[in-house]
Amino acid sequence: MTREQCAALDAQDPLAWHRSQFALPPDVIYLDGNSLGALPRATSARVNEVIEQQWGVGLIRSWNSAHWVDLPRRVGGKIAQLIGAEPNEVLCADSTSVNLFKVLATALRLQRSSSRKVIVSEQANFPTDLYIAEGLTDLLGHGHQLQLIEVDDVVGAIDERTAVVMLTHVNFKTGSMHEMATLTQRAHGAGALVVWDLSHSAGAVPVELNALGVDFAIGCGYKYLNGGPGAPAFVFVASRHLSAISDDVYAQPLAGWLGHHSPFEFHDRYRPAASIDRYAVGTPSIIALAALEIGVDTVLAAGR
Ligand SMILES: *Cc1c(COP(=O)(O)O)cnc(C)c1O
Repeated sequence: MTREQCAALDAQDPLAWHRSQFALPPDVIYLDGNSLGALPRATSARVNEVIEQQWGVGLIRSWNSAHWVDLPRRVGGKIAQLIGAEPNEVLCADSTSVNLFKVLATALRLQRSSSRKVIVSEQANFPTDLYIAEGLTDLLGHGHQLQLIEVDDVVGAIDERTAVVMLTHVNFKTGSMHEMATLTQRAHGAGALVVWDLSHSAGAVPVELNALGVDFAIGCGYKYLNGGPGAPAFVFVASRHLSAISDDVYAQPLAGWLGHHSPFEFHDRYRPAASIDRYAVGTPSIIALAALEIGVDTVLAAGR
């Protein structure tokens, strides 16, 4: 059925066409998109094409001829539309946990000339975010400290000792949503940077990162973006920070070859890309990215 036919058949139900884009069993009312988004109908054919044609026939040429090499940026650019970012500020890569490590490391690096040592987060944050922060501060050995605050007390906990405020926009258990504008403003007013985890908000609620001056964000591809189990995650770095770190070689410390300025020249010294590409690490999963692109397209088709 086309979108128009569907609209004509069921003018009372403007969501019918969007529902029809998903391959859900007819007797299922699915409310677990917060954990694993449903399967878009178009995904199987797309993944099949990538496997049978692009991989099976095109083989190694498909990195260029099928534009595999552009996929992390292309899908990142689509996600940018959902989170109020510019396309050159968002990249699809790795998992949410790994992307958090990268941006938190950059944020702490940007604060290193100050005496700020505290990462403010929330007691009820998703565990991986807290573990990654603890692991990074232990690795750095600079005396950083993760301070866990009850949800209603976060604003008051931000002060001149705060290096980074690291929060998940929408809580995975309660569904409660932080006031991103207020907290970002409060953090900046106190001289801190912000990292927002959008795992439960990208594709679900309006997000305007640049309008609020957000510094860094990360999020999940397999929840509301419908990318499929273990889909690649995304990472956002405000362009002003990309410029500020351009001469700081290890400001993104997972310095893998695909984050290199010229990866295919195979230099023996690392020189980071000047763009968000430096947040890439190793070779992306093309089949998974192809599935994620369909998932993101279904969300974009629903409008903002
Ligand atoms: C789902 C979720 C993650 C998932 O992390 P992965 O590394 O992709 O497994 C991370 N953070 C939050 C807040 C989440 O809700």
